[in-house]
Amino acid sequence: WSKETVAVVTGGNRGIGFEISRQLAGHGLTVILTSRDANAGNESAKVLQEGGIDMVYHQLDVLDSSSINQFVEWLQENYGGLDILVNNAGVNFNLGFENSVENACKVIETNYYGVKSMIEAMIPLMKPSTSGARIVNVSSRLGRLNGRRNRIGDVALREQLNDEVSLSEELIDRTVSTFLQQVEDGTWASNGWPQTFTDYSVSKLAVNAYTRLMARKLSGRSEGEKIYINCYCPGWVKTALTGYAGNITAEEGADTGVWLALYDQTVTGKFFAERREINF
Ligand code: NDP
Repeated sequence: WSKETVAVVTGGNRGIGFEISRQLAGHGLTVILTSRDANAGNESAKVLQEGGIDMVYHQLDVLDSSSINQFVEWLQENYGGLDILVNNAGVNFNLGFENSVENACKVIETNYYGVKSMIEAMIPLMKPSTSGARIVNVSSRLGRLNGRRNRIGDVALREQLNDEVSLSEELIDRTVSTFLQQVEDGTWASNGWPQTFTDYSVSKLAVNAYTRLMARKLSGRSEGEKIYINCYCPGWVKTALTGYAGNITAEEGADTGVWLALYDQTVTGKFFAERREINF
């Protein structure tokens, strides 16, 4: 890896994204730390720069198409594209008593559609290389299809999402929009979704399914144009998102993400935790 290798990290102003940015820069890459709030992001980049770490900053709100478009133009013009995309930005309101229809929409929008928008915008900019470009999606074990908290009561739907042939973008989109409709109607629990930890789990379930789908879609690319895409669970991390209640630091939570971004293998469409592949 060298300064020629360009990595983009979303939600880099704090928490795991900040640490991923810092650690990637430590490997000698050009890292572009992005954030939706320009003041917060500039401040964070400055902290790193003052600590002797080379860090580039640019504003990027994954929910704002004009912000994404501006970023695309700027990235193309200044760096000619990127090699690594880390989709880290995310929100969670399932901590306390903040569950609401509005928050559920925000969570699905940010954690799933935000990731999707970034992947769609960045793929055309991914630079050809012999080792392949990388996309890392920061996801969660809570989004495992057969996980304890997010077990889908609708067995047919679970099977469809689990099955390579029936898995499609349309199916994932339909799953999240049906879920949101059921949240609005107050019928999500009777439709088989668990009462608690729900919208966040569903958003990550969608990210996981989308990771597998994109890996398949991207697998046909020719040598030199390859893009490998994987997702990972950072563990339960002491950040704002958990109310600092986790059991590991952001530095530890970033580790598998950085490892995957720099991973010297052609693994794609897999889910990792603690540097090991685990089941979706
Ligand atoms: P933080 O709340 O500390 O950081 C989340 C980051 O995402 C912030 O920088 C936030 O920006 C940013 N963000 C939110 N919405 C947007 C948006 N629309 N556009 C751009 N950036 C946005 O949480 P973590 O560091 O813990 O979370 C990072 C990722 O790790 C998330 O995807 C989360 O789901 C995942 N994760 C975290 C776990 C944990 O235990 N902490 C466990 C499993 C997964 P702002 O500061 O402006 O709000």
